[in-house]
Amino acid sequence: MRAAIRNHHLISIQAVREHLEWREPDGCASCRPALNFYVLAAWPAEAVDDPQSRFVNERVHANIQKDGTYSVVPRMWGGLTSPNELRAIADVADKFEVPMVKVTGGQRIDLFGIKKEDLPAVWSDLNDAGMVSGHAYGKTLRTVKTCVGSEWCRFGTQDSTGLGVQLEKFTWGSNMPHKFKIAVSGCPRNCAEATIKDFGVVCVDSGYELHVAGNGGIKVRATDLLCKVKTEEEVKEYCGAFTQLYREEAHYLDRTAPWIERVGLSYVKEKVVEDATNRKALNERFIESQKYSQSDPWAERVSGKVAPAEFIPLKTIG
Ligand code: SF4
Repeated sequence: MRAAIRNHHLISIQAVREHLEWREPDGCASCRPALNFYVLAAWPAEAVDDPQSRFVNERVHANIQKDGTYSVVPRMWGGLTSPNELRAIADVADKFEVPMVKVTGGQRIDLFGIKKEDLPAVWSDLNDAGMVSGHAYGKTLRTVKTCVGSEWCRFGTQDSTGLGVQLEKFTWGSNMPHKFKIAVSGCPRNCAEATIKDFGVVCVDSGYELHVAGNGGIKVRATDLLCKVKTEEEVKEYCGAFTQLYREEAHYLDRTAPWIERVGLSYVKEKVVEDATNRKALNERFIESQKYSQSDPWAERVSGKVAPAEFIPLKTIG
């Protein structure tokens, strides 16, 4: 199916269904989100995102909770924040009577109990303070967790915080088969837990160890060591290449861990480490696709240009 999408320039769900002569005209809840991802990943400049083929959290850019309210997580690049951002978050919590404010495992702040109809106003206030969506709900980059590294820590070997910020600015917003987490630790003590992330960097005196395909969760998997590099630029190039290979070849809803167990670490090394030309080409394709996906979904909805009816209650009862 992905070959057909690439080889026949299929840029919409409908085009795929017609080309492959599928019988059900509307598809189902399993195939529509997968097709939507596959066409967006193959044709980032041309494919049109179909919000109705995304799950509710990705449609409303917040996480639905058990009581039907939503949680909102602004992005904190590399886990950094500022007094101004914290004041704005506190003001939002007061103004919208947020019942719980919680620090997440990804080094950000989560506002719980937001009513769906209040989401655009909450985002507007957070946007005004310079914050954007943290995509805490999406099949995309979630967080880049960092430690304080050489700037503050006695054991730090490199600027892990600064590199984490760079990696987050590089990878945020990308469409992925599943959620994707990155971390950068400033030394092998590994305070940012880089060895259970999809892409983890462990700084050492001589450079950067790159680790891939780890995750926490029900089935914990420690990362595999991909390779070692010397510069921040190389870290970014390998990160872009690995991410793009995953985007192009994993099944929708595969995390990197089951994907690499299926294809094998040696296959990924062959494509990303041993073949420099292929690595550069993968990274270039990632950079190109990022041009079309790095826009803040909160700002788009605050402006009323996207999904204006999504947040208006159908009816007020009682
Ligand atoms: S991982 Fe190393 S550099 Fe980072 S905070 Fe821990 S001890 Fe310090």
